[in-house]
Amino acid sequence: MQAETYQSTVIKFFSDPLPFKKLKLKYAWQERVIFFDPQDIYTQVKINAFRRIQSHLAFPDMFPDRKDGLCSCGCGIALTGRRRRWATNDCTKFATAVWAIIDGQVGTYEYYLGKYQGRKCAVCRSRRNLKVDHIIPVKYGGGGCWLSNFQLLCHACHVEKTNADFGWKQPLPGPESLPV
Ligand SMILES: [Zn+2]
Ligand SMILES: [Zn+2]
Repeated sequence: MQAETYQSTVIKFFSDPLPFKKLKLKYAWQERVIFFDPQDIYTQVKINAFRRIQSHLAFPDMFPDRKDGLCSCGCGIALTGRRRRWATNDCTKFATAVWAIIDGQVGTYEYYLGKYQGRKCAVCRSRRNLKVDHIIPVKYGGGGCWLSNFQLLCHACHVEKTNADFGWKQPLPGPESLPV
């Protein structure tokens, strides 16, 4: 892949929201997480794309306090009573999940990915030994990404992709390279 194309692919995966599709979810705020457009957050916070876990990200960086008395999560609901940042408990759950995904908490992004993609391998559809794969690997700047840079792969497909990503497994030598 050419450098320019590669760069734009990385950026695209970073902040692109997932394409909408109909899902069966228990809570409306979970649907809000999955189809959230994180663009604003990515322009506000510093991401170390070469790290799996961000760990320096704080709520106020991602969801700054607003001066207009509205909830920081962007739902548009006014803060009342003793509430200082989130208008409802659902807002807190939504914002916590968004934070955990971008921060790199595997339990959280695996959960939402499973809801979106289904608990099956993105390549061969197997339901066994699934693990989450960074489509653009962390080593190449895919860390701290949004859900769009993740996919569930079975162990075999994950090994194959990792080999392809990093070239660990060299192709078998052709007849011309066999010793004579
Ligand atoms: Zn809210
Ligand atoms: Zn597979």
